[in-house]
Amino acid sequence: MNAPQKNKIITLAGGGLVGSLLALVLAKKGYQVEVFESRPDLRKVDISAGKSINLALANRGIKPLKDLGLMNDIEKMLIPMRGRMVHIDGQQANLQAYGQQAHEVIYSISRGELNGYLMTQAELTGKVNFHFEHRVADVDFSQNQLNLVHQGENINHHFQQLMGTDGANSPVRKAILKQNSHLVQYQNEEQLLDHSYKELVIKADKNGKHKLDKNALHIWPRGNFMIIALPNLDGSFTVTLFLPAKGLSAGLHQNDMSFSHLLNNEQLNKFFDEYFSELKPLIYNLEDDFFTNPIGRLATIKCTPWSFADKALILGDAAHAIVPFHGQGMNCGFEDCDLINQLLPKASELNSDFNWQQFFQTIEQQRKVNSDAIADMAIENYIEMRSSVMQKDYLLKKQCAFKIQQWFPKRFSPRYAMVMFEHRPYKEAFELGEIHKKLLAKLCETIDDAQQLTKEVAIKLLDKYQL
Ligand SMILES: Cc1cc2nc3c(=O)[nH]c(=O)nc-3n(C[C@H](O)[C@H](O)[C@H](O)COP(=O)(O)OP(=O)(O)OC[C@H]3O[C@@H](n4cnc5c(N)ncnc54)[C@H](O)[C@@H]3O)c2cc1C
Repeated sequence: MNAPQKNKIITLAGGGLVGSLLALVLAKKGYQVEVFESRPDLRKVDISAGKSINLALANRGIKPLKDLGLMNDIEKMLIPMRGRMVHIDGQQANLQAYGQQAHEVIYSISRGELNGYLMTQAELTGKVNFHFEHRVADVDFSQNQLNLVHQGENINHHFQQLMGTDGANSPVRKAILKQNSHLVQYQNEEQLLDHSYKELVIKADKNGKHKLDKNALHIWPRGNFMIIALPNLDGSFTVTLFLPAKGLSAGLHQNDMSFSHLLNNEQLNKFFDEYFSELKPLIYNLEDDFFTNPIGRLATIKCTPWSFADKALILGDAAHAIVPFHGQGMNCGFEDCDLINQLLPKASELNSDFNWQQFFQTIEQQRKVNSDAIADMAIENYIEMRSSVMQKDYLLKKQCAFKIQQWFPKRFSPRYAMVMFEHRPYKEAFELGEIHKKLLAKLCETIDDAQQLTKEVAIKLLDKYQL
């Protein structure tokens, strides 16, 4: 099992979305890549049931895919979503556009299809080996050795450089942090969200068509909880209920509802009848799917350092798992790969004195401030999605922000647009967004309709806030 001690071999733990893209990036740079993935090959076995079947791909994630020349293929897997379609029972569904220009859309894509495609592209380079059903149990840094479990047997793999793309529960992260726990700047925060999720499905109609507008991300906001639905190419929608894991009381009030109050068909039906009566008839096999599909937990991970000596670095969710409410976890992980693509020399140009330790530290330096920022924005966005989208004040601020952007695009871009459609660092988007909040709050003290906003007032505010 031990890889021969040749130069320029990089070992990856985890062949998920980030691991597969990273393998391809490294292979194109001339490195030999060995990927150890705990699950079977998802191109041969369906392992997706009930676990984030589709996701939103946006500009940050698209950039490295484009740079690698993959977008012609990937475009066929995409469904553009131009805004949030907000569903409130008894009212006409209302589309809140994400942006003002045609290109300001995000894309629904199947996790399994994208992951499988990236694996295949990586393999086609002839430089990447995926070792499926190889679970990393631990890392022995004294021997530069991965301890793996394969078909019940313990085996070892010697590595030169290790990159941990093994997701939110990363054993590589745990091993790195263990080595570094004496450091002053050490951080190991895992914040479990007290809301969990469950996936359901709306099947295509009898003609194979979508039963709802397919070019939108649908939301049924209900204050303390919500349902969202993203379109799939086969005419179905993946539907996700986000709800507190545990409630405080008997769950009689909307704010107390939780997964712990949905334990049988009667409770489940009552819940859907009360809060999602228009959606309920569209959901396929509600009772069976609800009680069969797993409840997913959500967490934010902030840690440092991301690396150990010149031996190992973590990336993607392993370094910075975030809650999914800004649709940025994968996009942020793909940005990590983009930075590796930009900064790592080609294998053929790598000198024997290349300083891996410094390289790993540079990656963390550039990425951590930004992944921390998107982690915070993702938490904020949950409240926006499940509650604010229904409020007049929120809509007024959004309309005003669009107007200011139209008049002064160089001075003002709404935070959502900065995160989803631009490449400016997340930290900068976060900081500018804080200033925008103050500006919009000030503005909305004096107007109650976006029509009342004049260019003169907008200029004064932009000057006041030095934008
Ligand atoms: C409900 C939900 C919705 C989401 N929606 C979006 C969205 O719309 N847009 C977006 O950008 N992001 C979204 N995300 C986030 C996105 O799924 C993650 O950020 C992304 O999957 C991270 O990729 P990764 O490769 O770092 O980790 P993972 O995708 O978790 O991949 C890790 C891989 O490592 C493997 N692995 C784990 N442990 C081991 C081990 N011990 N040994 C070997 N292999 C191991 C796993 O099997 C897996 O293949 C969503 C997440 C959830 C939960």
